[in-house]
Amino acid sequence: MIEIDGSVGEGGGQILRTSLALSMCTGQPFALRRIRAGRAKPGLMRQHLTCVNAATEVSGAEVHGAALNSQSLHFTPGAVRAGDYAFNVGTAGSCTLVLQTLWPALLMADGPSRLKLGGGTHNPMAPPFHFLERSYAPLLRKLGAEVELRLRRLGFYPAGGGEIEATILPAQDRLEPFDLTDRGADGEGYAECFAPALARSIARRELQQVGASLGWNADQLRQTPARQNEGPGNAMLVTLPYEHLTEVFTAFGEKGVSAEQVAQEVVRQVREHRASAAALGPHLADQWALPLALAVHQRGGAATFTCTALTPHATTNFDVIERFLPVRFTKTSRADGFTVMVSAR
Ligand code: ATP
Repeated sequence: MIEIDGSVGEGGGQILRTSLALSMCTGQPFALRRIRAGRAKPGLMRQHLTCVNAATEVSGAEVHGAALNSQSLHFTPGAVRAGDYAFNVGTAGSCTLVLQTLWPALLMADGPSRLKLGGGTHNPMAPPFHFLERSYAPLLRKLGAEVELRLRRLGFYPAGGGEIEATILPAQDRLEPFDLTDRGADGEGYAECFAPALARSIARRELQQVGASLGWNADQLRQTPARQNEGPGNAMLVTLPYEHLTEVFTAFGEKGVSAEQVAQEVVRQVREHRASAAALGPHLADQWALPLALAVHQRGGAATFTCTALTPHATTNFDVIERFLPVRFTKTSRADGFTVMVSAR
């Protein structure tokens, strides 16, 4: 039984999700205590509980402590079963985080799986759907994992109601680690504002402000079509395609924050990213660690990436991954960020 203290480092929900994912991948049970002790409302929130329940169903696990607000959990996985599954967070909690919990295990399964997930698709403090589709999934494919994602309906706080679908083909022991130390040549960036059920002028003002700040032309400022029955929300996205990867930066609108301030927040992230030549932005760095570590574990040897920043999310995730897989993360700082090497132990 691997014992994990949920209060260490970042002390948030990612400790739980990484533990669930790698427990299912490796068959090792774990006990997690002090769940999300670093957060104002500790314990399992609806999104985290959906992750636990989904992992339980997919792996036929035996579980204790799977209840709202629970601060400890025992999880003993069985064999992961490929198949068709539907999970709904039931609130605006992020359904992309549910996907990230299940993804690694379903890659290891012996057949294709289809997931239908409901909840928030664009939440602050979670990967927005478009980040998974454009940044994360293409990197998984390069590792040898075939995944397809579809956005059926946007979901924002507080209404939720979003829906995504994922098809995950088995990769089992065929993952191939690779180095990601530079971005390669620049592609043409673009901005989009997803603001269903809000006045069109809000999206227009945000796009204009991003365009003015980054010196972008009208083709780079994209209006997005609204689907029916989407609740109100406001996510301003900037997508930066490079030769070797794509980055997606997001800022969220909220009451009392002007369209121009939302635009400036995403511009700030873009400028910060461009000030460094390191390959991965801060979010991609913490999320890339798990699939890369799995690939290194399968193949042996080592793989390296560079990143603009190492957040507490990233370093905490490295520590949790090291508890489940015989790999080591070695971090070295460089002038414009960090180099991280993942090596088999
Ligand atoms: P808690 O409520 O405990 O904070 P949580 O379950 O919401 O936890 P975190 O532990 O904070 O989750 O982890 C959030 C994850 O979402 C991290 O992997 C982080 O990199 C990712 N993330 C947050 N914002 C973005 C963003 N704008 N783009 C891509 N990924 C993001």
